[in-house]
Amino acid sequence: MITLFTDSHNTLNQKSYITLIDKTDIHSLTCPSCHQAGHVVKHAYYYRTLKTPVDGDVSLCILRVKCQFCGKTHAVVPSTIVPYSQVSLDDHLDVISCVDHDDKTCSISVNNDKLKHFLSSGYFHLSIITIRNILNRFIHYWWSRLVSALIPLSCDQIVQGCFKHYSRQFMQCSSCIQNILYAPST
Ligand SMILES: [Zn+2]
Repeated sequence: MITLFTDSHNTLNQKSYITLIDKTDIHSLTCPSCHQAGHVVKHAYYYRTLKTPVDGDVSLCILRVKCQFCGKTHAVVPSTIVPYSQVSLDDHLDVISCVDHDDKTCSISVNNDKLKHFLSSGYFHLSIITIRNILNRFIHYWWSRLVSALIPLSCDQIVQGCFKHYSRQFMQCSSCIQNILYAPST
């Protein structure tokens, strides 16, 4: 998988995805499998579903590229996507805002008052099971990793921080496939 860094405040839809692909020099991308640059070409498209607050379940047509050096294919996704999740990065961060951490005791827990407020404030496109799964994955896996690498829990820095230290998107599960970040502006 190749992740294109994009402003997380951009709305994710087919139009913004095509704009992102059009302004990316696909041929210059590095293959996540063989790490060779300059051998990647457009190959195919596939659909994936994302849960959005305004439009409900939205189907996005995602580009798949092929590395002509090693023959592997890779999806090209914007950094507003978390691999193998239908929930956007922004929504992940909003769910995680229901977590309190105590710096003195290094403890972390779900603030149930914040969670109740969250559930009543427009996130009806996410099921309670999805929200619990996100909270559990953050508390049991990602929180300690953010703390140890001093990665702030802010949408502006978390993507590049997690790729730099853990070679994967924030909240991506550890068993998911290789993922590299392409950030032409940095
Ligand atoms: Zn390759």
